[in-house]
Amino acid sequence: MNHKHLICLVLILLSLPGHAALRVLACEPEWGALAQELGGPAVEVAVATTALQDPHQIQAKPSLIARARNADLVVCTGAELEVGWLPVLLQQSGNARVQAGQPGHFAAADFVRKLDVPSQLDRSQGDVHAAGNPHIQTDPRNIALVATALTQRLQQLDASHAADYAQRGADFSRRWQQAMQRWATQGAPLRGVPVVSQHKAFVYLYDWLGLKEVAVLEPKPGVEATASHLQSVQGALKATPARMVLYAAYQDPRSSEWLSRNAGVPAVKIAFTVGGTEGARDLFGLFDDTLARLLAAGAAR
Ligand SMILES: [Zn+2]
Repeated sequence: MNHKHLICLVLILLSLPGHAALRVLACEPEWGALAQELGGPAVEVAVATTALQDPHQIQAKPSLIARARNADLVVCTGAELEVGWLPVLLQQSGNARVQAGQPGHFAAADFVRKLDVPSQLDRSQGDVHAAGNPHIQTDPRNIALVATALTQRLQQLDASHAADYAQRGADFSRRWQQAMQRWATQGAPLRGVPVVSQHKAFVYLYDWLGLKEVAVLEPKPGVEATASHLQSVQGALKATPARMVLYAAYQDPRSSEWLSRNAGVPAVKIAFTVGGTEGARDLFGLFDDTLARLLAAGAAR
């Protein structure tokens, strides 16, 4: 066989169904990790952002557009988290399969109950979170709901591996339920603990653990706290004390650190997604690490 024939043979093999992995482009690391857990060797996962990038604001760079062009499935948060960059990215990709409404477009937030849905839309209240709070990944119960829906989507798009996806989905679900029981036990002392958030990033975490948000440092979602706003929060905490202030790993911690110094409460960095801290190596580590940090801060007085 000469080289030309060999190349033809390779091309034929590559084009046969079942040989090529399903190409997944995840908008955020948590969905990339989940797609990898559920897809195993049947998927090839690329992630558009890192844990240290603000997922509200990403540039649709040429390398990202190239990834979107080749993707079979785009897995994003939805709920307008990526409204500032994903529509542009998908449009520029020219990939009809991953446009909104297509089976190749998966929005995780469609499969959970959303919190903070405004009763009336007022863009003057900040330019994000109009469709409800999009930061759903901070509650492991949401991860479980999204996992079920994503397994079904993988089966729909790649029927040749449907049985593999079913098996991996069941295995993940079993391990996740066990972990959630452990986390619920560990997190019990956090119930009712008053906290301050830098950004409204943790409403689902609080809903799950029973933490009580008494103040937010950003005057509006996505708007950096001013000195006067910080001082008013500090003043309010005298009447309604908090035990800690939380910020996400991607955020500049200055306002949390200011409050920590001036109100005498620990500032707690939350991984927020896979890779945000050293302990958050995968989805399980994300919640192990988050709980460990909250418990350490809650016990520190
Ligand atoms: Zn946000």
